[in-house]
Amino acid sequence: MSKPVVAIVGRPNVGKSTLFNVLAGEMISIVKDTPGVTRDRIYADVSWLDREFTLIDTGGIEPESSDIILSQMREQAQIAIDTADVIIFITDVRQGLVDADSKVADMLRRARKPVILAVNKVDNFHKFMPDVYEFYNLGIGDPTPVSAASRLGIGDLLDTVISYFPEDKEEEEEDDRPRIAIVGKPNVGKSSIVNKLLGENRVIVSDIAGTTRDAIDTNIVHNGKEYVFIDTAGLRRKNKIKEELERYSIIRTVTAVERADVVLMVIDAVEGVTEQDAKIAGIAHERGKGIIIVVNKWDAIEKNDKTMREYEKKIRTVLSYMPYAEIMYVSAKTGQRLPKLFDMIDMVIENQTLRIATGVLNEIMTEAVAMQQPPSDKGKRLKLYYITQVSVKPPTFVIFVNDKELMHFSYTRYLENKIREAFGFKGTSLKFFIRERK
Ligand code: GDP
Ligand code: GDP
Repeated sequence: MSKPVVAIVGRPNVGKSTLFNVLAGEMISIVKDTPGVTRDRIYADVSWLDREFTLIDTGGIEPESSDIILSQMREQAQIAIDTADVIIFITDVRQGLVDADSKVADMLRRARKPVILAVNKVDNFHKFMPDVYEFYNLGIGDPTPVSAASRLGIGDLLDTVISYFPEDKEEEEEDDRPRIAIVGKPNVGKSSIVNKLLGENRVIVSDIAGTTRDAIDTNIVHNGKEYVFIDTAGLRRKNKIKEELERYSIIRTVTAVERADVVLMVIDAVEGVTEQDAKIAGIAHERGKGIIIVVNKWDAIEKNDKTMREYEKKIRTVLSYMPYAEIMYVSAKTGQRLPKLFDMIDMVIENQTLRIATGVLNEIMTEAVAMQQPPSDKGKRLKLYYITQVSVKPPTFVIFVNDKELMHFSYTRYLENKIREAFGFKGTSLKFFIRERK
């Protein structure tokens, strides 16, 4: 299920990171076996009431002069417009309204996305409220006074944020076209793959009216079936900035992955798989998306009968947390194996949405338990009562046991392998929750 994306935009020192940290609170998800992904606080998973969203801080640069500030703010705002469902534009009551605020407000107004104007550092509502009214001049609606540092007005701000989210995913359910994100380091060939796919398949203009994403997504028809490639605008841009800020490429990756069913993780065959690839792939793994590892530039390396196996071994080592992902060796230059990507995408989506009957799952679990005794501690042995699948995308299971503490990670992994032996589930992670039943 794709979560809404909320971006924070604002000048340096208005309190973006303070607000980000307050909103993210303890909700930051830490996935221990994914290297390097969550340490950097550029994005966080937040929940408020019963809604969840991905929060993004577009800031983080320390500019030296005011004209640089403005150009960086424009860039930030553009990233937010491209990627977010709701934008929080944050200003500073103590500095008052400045020219750069007005310019960014103009840009945001034209984007026709919901923008919430937060006026920060209102540590004392009595004292500062008169100054807050000045911000009506920005022409983007009512200012919401907050104090990130003293955590004032945060609840109201979050209420406003979630009021802009679509109700119960109605919109998405009507749209069952597979959504695909192409991610990877700069220069691995992402744009070349998109362009080749565009050249060899029919491209159509979306008939789903009013989607703000049309400008950045591309519809491709292959064998009579429609596929949506996400955020391809950035990839197709002719004079794309090669040295795109690391922060912005992470934001683009996170938001594209968030909206995707399947992620094509592109690796450069010439360069081989790297730690940076592991970090990017981790974003998709963490979010439970379908994943295909695409080794591109396969034309450019010398090959013998062992080459593929050697590549696979290396990739499985570096991306050890996603053994379930299939690997494809392609060339955007020659087009080799690119059409096969569509079959693979279909298969991964099927597996992401596969539901296994409870009876069958319990048979597998009973057999697995008989073959390998569950762990025990201090004379107490783990008992597994029941397993059931509770959701899809990714397939998620609940196992009821006598004592959660006794359930080792390795035993869960063992059960996962047994389920995979029976059903494959290629291309998707599986999630397990352990519950106690006394
Ligand atoms: P950023 O550059 O926009 O990310 O801003 P920061 O979050 O780093 O905050 C800049 C400065 O403003 C820091 O010294 C914060 O402590 C301070 N600050 C942030 N929020 C508030 C607030 O609500 N009230 C006051 N008085 N100061 C704040
Ligand atoms: P991106 O930054 O990931 O979008 O990468 P580009 O699509 O811009 O490609 C980077 C460079 O790799 C360009 O010079 C491409 O011509 C080259 N390239 C991309 N795909 C292939 C391929 O399959 N084979 C070879 N030999 N070169 C490729």
